[in-house]
Amino acid sequence: MDTGLRNLVQRRLTAQATAELERLEELLHSVGFNNARDKRTSFFEDDSHKLISSMIYRASTQGERPCPSFKFVWKNFAPPRVKFFGWLLTKERIHCRTSLVHKHILQDIDARCEICKMYDESADHIFSGCSFVRSFWERIGWRPAGIAKVAELWKTQVPPHVHEKVAHPLILLYCWEIWRHRNDVVFRGLEPSTDRLIATCKEAAASWSCRIPRKDLVIASNWRFLFSM
Ligand SMILES: [Zn+2]
Repeated sequence: MDTGLRNLVQRRLTAQATAELERLEELLHSVGFNNARDKRTSFFEDDSHKLISSMIYRASTQGERPCPSFKFVWKNFAPPRVKFFGWLLTKERIHCRTSLVHKHILQDIDARCEICKMYDESADHIFSGCSFVRSFWERIGWRPAGIAKVAELWKTQVPPHVHEKVAHPLILLYCWEIWRHRNDVVFRGLEPSTDRLIATCKEAAASWSCRIPRKDLVIASNWRFLFSM
């Protein structure tokens, strides 16, 4: 037990992780084993000691302070893979170049945006700072200055013709397509093109329309209207 635990953890440990490991070893030191039947105990068990997953889910999703990005990311009709992308994006966890430099996967000199070749490519640069993406937002009638930082993307100012019920999935759709367009430039060597980006947004909107809740005619008509222009 003494050395086994240390073999299981990923090196090198931070000072905090080392302190936590030492505390855990201290606690485990007093634990003894016997041949009695193993008995599971948990705050989330029922009377017969079975774990209740619904209680764990409720506890993990109903904190006192709701996560501000939760509704924006998960409560809309975007496809699951886009919601997952949105979650990574609002947590600033997408693999943009500055993030890869930070993880020592790329060198410092490689952080430059491959689209404008002017500034380092952070997540905020990709979605609101790059001259290319600013021209895209302008083309579709959104104010580039109104695009919020990725960590607060739901605060983006949408134009008046966008219904509030459509705003969140629409922001996710545009960001998803901007990211895919960026990947086409970086990994497939395609030229940046606002025309191509707008076309892929329209294609995505058409394929997402079957996901709109049938009862919600307001969303459906606004969605059709936005992409008929
Ligand atoms: Zn750029």
